[in-house]
Amino acid sequence: MQTQTEYLHCHVGRIWKHRPPPRGVGSDVYAICGTVQAGCICSFGSQCVDAHSAEELKEWKERFEYRQKKIQRAAKLYGKSFTDQLLDKLASSNNPEKVNNLNSK
Ligand SMILES: [Zn+2]
Repeated sequence: MQTQTEYLHCHVGRIWKHRPPPRGVGSDVYAICGTVQAGCICSFGSQCVDAHSAEELKEWKERFEYRQKKIQRAAKLYGKSFTDQLLDKLASSNNPEKVNNLNSK
């Protein structure tokens, strides 16, 4: 049987091109930045919570789906307490796809 850490190592292989999606919102809230859409330079830059291109928006939705699937699969395999730990890690990590050490307390 796989350990939790091995499980995550096997599933962190995706490379993303764009910025991570904004936290604490669902994929239905993701949108393209109005400033950029109007043809201007967004003063928030990489801190902006909106996507700066259609590709970025598409990737954010993919990332959201990907994360949801990972969480659902983990919940099935390891139960709810593991999922809660994973969600905590995701919420506090700058790079959620690299979360791989759930055993440290
Ligand atoms: Zn913006």
